[in-house]
Amino acid sequence: MFYTHGWVHVIAGCMFCGKTDEMLRLLRRFSIAGRRVLLVKPRLDTRTDRVTVVSRSGAQHQAVTVDDSSEIEAAVSEADIVAIEEAQFFDERLPEVVEQLARLGKQVVVTGLDRDFRGVPFGTMPRLLALADQVTKLTAICMVCGEPATRTQRLIDGEPASADSPLIVIGGMGDETYEARCRLHHDVPGLD
Ligand SMILES: [Zn+2]
Repeated sequence: MFYTHGWVHVIAGCMFCGKTDEMLRLLRRFSIAGRRVLLVKPRLDTRTDRVTVVSRSGAQHQAVTVDDSSEIEAAVSEADIVAIEEAQFFDERLPEVVEQLARLGKQVVVTGLDRDFRGVPFGTMPRLLALADQVTKLTAICMVCGEPATRTQRLIDGEPASADSPLIVIGGMGDETYEARCRLHHDVPGLD
């Protein structure tokens, strides 16, 4: 669907739930329809290179990287559709920036992790979910039992990471991996 009076669609979920694939599917439709699309991502995401967002299934789209939310409005210019990836890593002002873009008549698609590895609401995602005109919450599959997963399990050297390990790890903490887990199999030692 296309909205020209401003619209905010937040796509949220745990890791491996297909957020990026869903966003790229929507962006492909917008592009086919002749809408001008801008995809923005925070520079700290190093999973992909600086100019291309690639989903786990291989879909991709060119992206502009920004250092913080204040750079988004300047990057937008003539775009009809503004997509923002990895929203949980942006600063506190992101919800205001998103609201302003919607006031300007932009259709904004935001993806992000709704919870961190501890299961705690992540960054400004709770506010974005509340402000959204439309919310899509996706689930992954629990790697232990095969039921729908809504949590991200962090493992360090194969063991559940404790609640006090840092949210963003910059190298050298051992072999860090993630899995999608259901409520029952999400394990965070030290969590109250
Ligand atoms: Zn499970």
